[in-house]
Amino acid sequence: MSKNNVNSAKTREYLSRYMEGVKKRNPGEPEFHQAVYEVASTIFPYIKDKPIYHENQILERMAEPERVVYFRVPWTDDSGNIRTNRGFRVQFNSAIGPYKGGLRFHPTVNLSILKFLGYEQTFKNSLTGLPMGGGKGGANFNPRGKSNNEVMRFCQSFITELYRHIGEDTDVPAGDIGVGGREIGYMFGQYKRITNKFVGVLTGKGLEFGGSQLRTEATGYGAIFFLRNMLQAHDNAIEGKRVLISGSGNVAMHAAEKLLHLGAKPITLSDSGGFIHSSSGLRQEHIDWIKALKAERRGRIAEAADEFPEISFQEKSRPWSVEGDCAVPCATQNEVSIEDARTMIANGVKAVAEGANMPCDQSAVEAFQEAGVLFGPAKAVNAGGVGVSGLEMSQNSGRISWEPDLLREMLENMMGDIHDSCVQYGTRTQGPVDYVSGANIAGFVKVADAMLSYGHV
Ligand code: NDP
Repeated sequence: MSKNNVNSAKTREYLSRYMEGVKKRNPGEPEFHQAVYEVASTIFPYIKDKPIYHENQILERMAEPERVVYFRVPWTDDSGNIRTNRGFRVQFNSAIGPYKGGLRFHPTVNLSILKFLGYEQTFKNSLTGLPMGGGKGGANFNPRGKSNNEVMRFCQSFITELYRHIGEDTDVPAGDIGVGGREIGYMFGQYKRITNKFVGVLTGKGLEFGGSQLRTEATGYGAIFFLRNMLQAHDNAIEGKRVLISGSGNVAMHAAEKLLHLGAKPITLSDSGGFIHSSSGLRQEHIDWIKALKAERRGRIAEAADEFPEISFQEKSRPWSVEGDCAVPCATQNEVSIEDARTMIANGVKAVAEGANMPCDQSAVEAFQEAGVLFGPAKAVNAGGVGVSGLEMSQNSGRISWEPDLLREMLENMMGDIHDSCVQYGTRTQGPVDYVSGANIAGFVKVADAMLSYGHV
């Protein structure tokens, strides 16, 4: 994505014509345009002397989902009112395996966001080295403030339509924002009931019914392994680093926990109400308390400042103005703007690892790269989650379960391999590794070559 990537006039012209086409075919979908641009701007320079990809229109075909399912989700609330939400599944690319990617339940969910996520997922899944295609889905349903029974009825209605489009060899959804263990349990239960089949059709399941050890922790833990690997590859160490984290969901809490394991200091967390800060670093007791607050009591992050005097809370702001050495945004897309990036650079942030999907907007990424900040893009940094989901699929089809230690080792190795792939394709003659180009090209090559083998399908 750095301007250096698009260095010849001809490549710039191809890219600009390509993006014009993408925008024309997908009007009103800014997140999707942003995601396609981010990949295409690094792939065009790579394929400029590889005509086979142009002749076979690989980038054009990759930007078109294979299938989009769009459906009504009616359900009844606790007061007896009938409510109607919109459900989606974007089956983006199955060149290297069954569609795989999460389900998001959030009021902002729309086709643009799910297409951006499904497109990104295709490259991310390829990077893991496992045979998984890319997909994403969800609904504009807000689980916040709903009773367990309401969430259950919603999940049951959602899967009553979706079940016919998914399957263990077709499309295997998982969790994402607003979809955790509770929602996966309700959806798996309904799938099993409708189909009379106990198969690995969803990942992120409870351990009692086919879930994998370490799946819950995998995205956040994997993100911190990647951050450590980036620092190590540039003669730096993670020990003692003060790390800004946003979010307080699955990814954020496990990222914070792994930082503690590795001797670093998570100093912030957030939710949509604001952020908390502890200059001496959050401890495991804080993390355990906040996990319980979020998972069991479904409370707000502000409550942590009432409970612990060493923690402060700032309402309606993000943590990017706090001084730190590294940042791991783990909440949502476009939560780091160019102004936030400039503040972090001025404050001496040396490395940024995207725990969430596309949390840094395009100009923020460029600012980090131009300032020589190590920048790990989401599709590499947070690939550990889908990686362990892939391992859950393997365990389900073999009807076995692997021990936590083995899975921990597999996750750490997988993040090491992903880092190596980024270095392979992203090393430059000068400056730090360009992880954005490295991840995009490494992810692209495998999917593109599989698509070439299939002919024009
Ligand atoms: P959760 O729902 O568990 O947590 C999301 C967190 O982000 C919550 O603290 C939430 O606060 C906050 N948040 C969400 N939207 C906003 C917003 N618009 N503004 C401010 N804060 C917001 O989600 P996950 O942790 O699972 O996912 C976080 C990110 O990581 C997403 O981008 C997701 O796509 C990505 N990801 C997740 C994976 C996983 O395994 N879970 C795998 C790979 C990527 P609040 O509760 O107030 O809304």
